[in-house]
Amino acid sequence: MNDCCVKSVPQSDSSYETFAGPVADWQARLTAGLNQSVQASEETLGHLEEQILQQTRGLERRLLEEAAQKKADQTPPVCPVCGHKLSRRTHDHPRTFHTRFGPVRVKRLRGWCRRCQAWRYPADAALGLSDTGGASPSVQEMAALTVSKMPVKEASAVIEQLTGVKLPPATLDREARRQGQRADRKRKQLDEQMRTGQGAQQMLALPTEPFTLVIELDAWNIRERDDWGQSAQKRAAGQEPQRWHWAYGGTCFRLDQRVESDGGRARIVSRGTVMTRGGVDDLREQLFAEAQRQGLAQAAKVLVIADGAVWIWNLAGDRFAQAHQRLDYYHASQHLWAVAHALHPQDEAAARAWIQPLLKKLKQGRVAPLLNDLRTLAKRLRQKKRQAVQSELSYLESHRERMDYPTARRNGEPQGSGAIESTCRQYQCRFKRPGQFWSLVGDEGLMCLETFWRNDRWHLLFPHILHGDPHRN
Ligand SMILES: [Zn+2]
Repeated sequence: MNDCCVKSVPQSDSSYETFAGPVADWQARLTAGLNQSVQASEETLGHLEEQILQQTRGLERRLLEEAAQKKADQTPPVCPVCGHKLSRRTHDHPRTFHTRFGPVRVKRLRGWCRRCQAWRYPADAALGLSDTGGASPSVQEMAALTVSKMPVKEASAVIEQLTGVKLPPATLDREARRQGQRADRKRKQLDEQMRTGQGAQQMLALPTEPFTLVIELDAWNIRERDDWGQSAQKRAAGQEPQRWHWAYGGTCFRLDQRVESDGGRARIVSRGTVMTRGGVDDLREQLFAEAQRQGLAQAAKVLVIADGAVWIWNLAGDRFAQAHQRLDYYHASQHLWAVAHALHPQDEAAARAWIQPLLKKLKQGRVAPLLNDLRTLAKRLRQKKRQAVQSELSYLESHRERMDYPTARRNGEPQGSGAIESTCRQYQCRFKRPGQFWSLVGDEGLMCLETFWRNDRWHLLFPHILHGDPHRN
């Protein structure tokens, strides 16, 4: 329970009297129900839990309705937007909204704000209902959390099963999207604070000793419904409808937050993630703000790790110009494997034998001899095979400064961008289900909710909840 809500209801007012009767009734019903479950040999602790939940729900709803009415009655008749005193005031305008305990009805004052030239219900803002379609803050949170994690239909059923709150899929979908857009606005506001030097409060506590900040980037694609219903016309006009779009992500963490288990698997205790459908420019600005939160300006060393995508290294050079750069080891080795398979298309054993000395050089950071080997090889080959080797060679040459893997191992740094790759896979579990289409605004908002959750900043969207556990992600 949040204490500002307790404070705002005067304790001296002995009210909630309408309660005395219902409480006595409730007690009797609850006792009877519980006794029955205790006696029934086939009923378990689960039945007792359900009894208490069912019997208490009505009481909770009435208590909430009464407290909400009091809060509405106490709200000063001023415009919640500009603070101007309202005129032409009338009372008792009812509004019903979904709450954790079922539908609750509150009567509110309405007044005219001359400054805004608009009708206002100040109680709505005080109760946290102003910009919602009739969902209480708790229900707003339920919608945001479930729909960012699972399809709407499933979410509707899960909410009802776990909480008893009935939210039809269409209502739930609208509410989740509204929350997604709100999350997107909040993120922009937080990033803007970082950009303009007002973000001191968002900074993580930093160690006093010098530290390394690791930044990893990646991208994946998502299917959207932007040409929905126009496929036939588009095809007739000779255009293939575009449905696949890129989602861009980045994650940053201090090296001391990365711990390796006995099995050698790395786990990152605390980190900040960004994920966006807004394109590379949006990613760049969001990631820069996130890196600042994680100590970009204070870091003794900054390290960018990613695969070979050109946009990544352009972004890194632009926004993190001083950073060390590292090509993901696995991607580098895949390009050597491409050569191996071009040379020995039918013979896996021969490919494997051929690649061993080159992988060894790669691992040891002997990049110049490795590239020389490939150059010598290319000269000996003809046509297709030569082209194949040339193409991999120019890839590796373009990344030659980014393949210092021995330094990575010596410093206990990641050799690859596995952290962001696994994060992208987790987003894909939600955003890339079969038969599912998204719209830019819709998926950006839901993705943004998921990111607030991952970054343990959920309480910034839903201040009524207690601060979560930073070790959850
Ligand atoms: Zn106003």
